Amino acid sequence: MIELILSDRCTNCGACVEVCPVNVINPSASGPPTLARVEECQTCFMCELYCRADAIYVAPDCDRRVEVNPAEIVASGCLGQYRKHSGWDEWAEQFPNNQWLMETVFRRAGEAAAVAAPLLRKSQT
Ligand code: SF4
Ligand code: SF4
Repeated sequence: MIELILSDRCTNCGACVEVCPVNVINPSASGPPTLARVEECQTCFMCELYCRADAIYVAPDCDRRVEVNPAEIVASGCLGQYRKHSGWDEWAEQFPNNQWLMETVFRRAGEAAAVAAPLLRKSQT
């Protein structure tokens, strides 16, 4: 779940507010956006991915909130790692986004499931 927006890094671009599919992040007229409905967070990392300022930390635990220390998170170097390793923005040359290859895997799994479903139904009758 999303745990941090670091106000000293945030440029108030609004991207995280826009991409969050469940409106966890509230815009603010006077500064960085704020966390509003964290319990709704899907741990999808979209806000991290779109934050070019690397100001957001999403903890990998998708079931419950975890206590985080902002200074430790900054020192860990994990901020922006997902965006970097996904090859977004300035990282496009250095880290090709191989995650998109999963699209082929998902398509093939879908095709296999479509073939298997009628056979499964037949075996159950
Ligand atoms: S995407 Fe990052 S820089 Fe933009 S408003 Fe959200 S936290 Fe701030
Ligand atoms: S991880 Fe996903 S659901 Fe959670 S705040 Fe970020 S964009 Fe929204």
